[in-house]
Amino acid sequence: MEMAKRADEAGGVNIRPAVHVVELGRRIELQSMDPLFHNITIGLYEQQPKPGVIEYFVHSYSGIPDTDERLARVVTIMLELGGMARAGNDPQRLCFTCGEVHKLACRRLFVAACKVKLGVVSEPMPLEVSDKTTGRNIKVIREDKATYRVTADGLDEGRAQRIGAIGRGLSRLAQMELIGEDAARVRFTCGTPHDELVGLLLPRALNLRAAMREQEEAMSRGLLVAPSAQKS
Ligand SMILES: [Zn+2]
Repeated sequence: MEMAKRADEAGGVNIRPAVHVVELGRRIELQSMDPLFHNITIGLYEQQPKPGVIEYFVHSYSGIPDTDERLARVVTIMLELGGMARAGNDPQRLCFTCGEVHKLACRRLFVAACKVKLGVVSEPMPLEVSDKTTGRNIKVIREDKATYRVTADGLDEGRAQRIGAIGRGLSRLAQMELIGEDAARVRFTCGTPHDELVGLLLPRALNLRAAMREQEEAMSRGLLVAPSAQKS
């Protein structure tokens, strides 16, 4: 909101400087028409400023005034919604403080952030969701630094299966490690808690098939550069 206000006050007179293509890195996700800002195209780019360091960069080729403010807002929402951090002083650059890549989660976070309307306060999603399949509340509990356990109220055999399916969904969407045969536990291999990412991906983990189909459709439209991570 604050960002939009500032853009209004500026009267939309800023002209955007061109960004060199070579600085962008590899595009890993695309919002092809941003309905919240003049249908501009916004890309999410992965960069490696030095060996072992991965940063993400939100960029648009649009020359429309105030595009920078729009991009900065998308980044700010990603920080709030996904628990990411700024990488340096660049308002379009961000990273995970654990140093991990978390690429799939970052892509989903970017797509979600582009959809948050102006005036809506973005905050991390709860680790709890209502499951239509079982009619129960599904909760995810963090057991230690990076391990999460999927639970439901009233656990019988059928529900244990459902919990395993959700655990597998989370592991796939967030690139987490599955623990145990029942698949009720998942863990971030970076050893760092990412409650925000789990909250963001939990509703999608309930319907993994739909989430994967969505991803494949995006791929087939040629919107994405296929990262090898998508195979798993
Ligand atoms: Zn991490």
